[in-house]
Amino acid sequence: MKPEGMKIIVFSDLDRSLLNDKYEYDQIEPILHHLLSLNVAIVFASSKTRNEIEFYRNKWQITDPFIVENGSAILIPKNYFGTHYEFTRQTQGYNIIEFSTPYCIIHEKLDVVRNRTGANIVGFGDMTAEQIAKDSGLPIYLAKLAKKREYSEPFKILDGKDKEVLDAISDEGLCFTRGGKYLHALGNCDKGKATSVLKNLYLQQFKKIFSIGVGDSANDLPMLKIVDKPFFVNKTVNRETVWKEIESIAQTQ
Ligand SMILES: [Mg+2]
Repeated sequence: MKPEGMKIIVFSDLDRSLLNDKYEYDQIEPILHHLLSLNVAIVFASSKTRNEIEFYRNKWQITDPFIVENGSAILIPKNYFGTHYEFTRQTQGYNIIEFSTPYCIIHEKLDVVRNRTGANIVGFGDMTAEQIAKDSGLPIYLAKLAKKREYSEPFKILDGKDKEVLDAISDEGLCFTRGGKYLHALGNCDKGKATSVLKNLYLQQFKKIFSIGVGDSANDLPMLKIVDKPFFVNKTVNRETVWKEIESIAQTQ
């Protein structure tokens, strides 16, 4: 399908979808610049925090909305859409549509899960930035931003009590999802729900849209299900190939 005359929106995960295992992006960066020059919207939808995603948006001068913490919230720069839409709250720069629960509640409920199951659960809230950097491979300045959580907690279960822990998380009314390196506890939301809401806002504004999704993990599947053209990065389909294909789709406009 040729998306002629349509607004193209790329909903992309970051880790292992755009960034490689070492958080590098060299081969993708020129493609991103090209897509932006073609007026393609680049919407990051990541398990990362607002601060981490802002780091990448600022680096590439991306001004499109973004989805934080696995679909916990959509941050829409003010005046981005000319149409009316509902949002949960405003900050100086953004209208924010929230789907998850505040971080303090997620953290408290994970404590309850830990006590109930006796499992050895370690979340980002229990770790220093230095420990997160060592465990995840993130540089320290990004590990510090990864700790600034608003809605969700990445965690690991160190003693194999996965079933007990995940059952207890559900009993506490929370959801969980699996990213590339960590499990994530969050409220009742996922990347798909947030993508769907944002897709509708684009539709309201541009009338004709073509949505593309890029993901690599289970937490990306709800997002990939609702886009027009999903790409799943894995051992046989690498990031560069995917982004080159997106570039050629955008050039057919
Ligand atoms: Mg990923």
